[in-house]
Amino acid sequence: MPKKTKKDLISLIVPCFNEEEALTIFYNETSKVLKTMKVDYEMILVDDGSKDNTLEVMRKLSKKDKNVRYISFSRNFGKEAAMYAGFVNSKGAYVAVMDADMQDPPTLLPQMYQILKKQDYDSVATRRVNRKGESKIRSMFARMFYKIINTISDAEIVDGARDFRLMKRKMVDAVISMSEYNRFSKGIFGWVGFKTYWLPFENVERVAGTTSWSFWGLTRYAIDGIINFSNVPLNIASWFGFLMTFVAFVMLIFIIVRKAIFGDPVAGWASTMCVIVFIGGIQLFCLGIMGQYIGKTYMETKNRAHYIIAEASDKTVK
Ligand code: UDP
Ligand code: MG
Repeated sequence: MPKKTKKDLISLIVPCFNEEEALTIFYNETSKVLKTMKVDYEMILVDDGSKDNTLEVMRKLSKKDKNVRYISFSRNFGKEAAMYAGFVNSKGAYVAVMDADMQDPPTLLPQMYQILKKQDYDSVATRRVNRKGESKIRSMFARMFYKIINTISDAEIVDGARDFRLMKRKMVDAVISMSEYNRFSKGIFGWVGFKTYWLPFENVERVAGTTSWSFWGLTRYAIDGIINFSNVPLNIASWFGFLMTFVAFVMLIFIIVRKAIFGDPVAGWASTMCVIVFIGGIQLFCLGIMGQYIGKTYMETKNRAHYIIAEASDKTVK
């Protein structure tokens, strides 16, 4: 990879899932900004198994503009896989990921590029300072997620951080080298380290189309993030076990003493049932946590491809 890297070339990776409307707007606006920057660039459009005309739009764009390349997946593999395909195929010394819906303002690019050129940073990342236009419940759960994951994992994950960031080649190579199947990029970017400059901006709503994330989809993604970057849930199981043993021991002493002093009145069916159900519940809960980790390990050991390419703009794409 690094051998083919082109000095000063900027690679923009754009994951697209059903973005036929937004993509043209994105292309026009972003090209305008890139032309003012007077740099060489390539746009890598990744069609993540779209069901609309996204691929058709990509074919047209790459035909009329030699700076545009595209990769089309055989089905929907998810944004993480699309980003990974983009990283693997990027040729630039600088690489950025951008959403196709204009929620990552291209107008920030010149400033991000200048920071990497002039200052001693390896990446410029962006974070939203507000969540304007997002539902209250979604924002609340998002905040909760960031609190939890930062308490229990050692990869720093910034609240409001977007995947939109411009990175130098050495950081991109580090990200590529983390070839795990269950990917959580916000965690991976933090985990690989390097010096990152944080650029805040006001939230922008998407220009066209609708978000492809359902509430449950996001919840699953959040759980993935926690499990991929922390073993704390596994420890919870041991702590529960320890606590329950301690409680049972205290109860045992209590019962023996009571028997010695007051004899043995047969009573307490209800309380016995409560204890049995409670312990059963905790056991199942802990088994569930372990199951999550085992499931991840299982998928990881299969060593499957991250994505399968159905069509691409050029022969070098892999
Ligand atoms: N995306 C993708 N594959 C998916 C879902 C989304 O490539 O399975 C792309 C999508 O086209 C967009 C970006 O990922 O460019 C962010 O998605 P979206 O705007 O739906 O998410 P949100 O901004 O609401 O978090
Ligand atoms: Mg969006």
